[in-house]
Amino acid sequence: MTTMGLTKGGQSWHPRYLEKLDESTCIGCGRCYNVCSRDVFDLKESEIEDDYGDDQLMMVMTIKDDSDCIGCQSCAKVCSKKCHTFSA
Ligand code: SF4
Ligand code: SF4
Repeated sequence: MTTMGLTKGGQSWHPRYLEKLDESTCIGCGRCYNVCSRDVFDLKESEIEDDYGDDQLMMVMTIKDDSDCIGCQSCAKVCSKKCHTFSA
């Protein structure tokens, strides 16, 4: 459920909450983690197969607790890979 809010100046504010994060396109840069003021994300190790068939560890962002999201969409603004999806 999305509730409406107001900006400091009294304009209506429509939060769009984080719904999904595409781990397959994430490069683990950590920018969304750093910009988020809430406790939503967690950077984790993930095992991937490289071009030579060898297993490699890389960092990937995951959603720890999306119930803490305030719907500011700052995470998407700093993500160069368009990993985040939001509620309408
Ligand atoms: S929309 Fe805002 S509060 Fe929600 S996960 Fe992104 S940066 Fe954090
Ligand atoms: S900003 Fe995008 S690419 Fe960087 S860690 Fe977050 S989801 Fe991954």
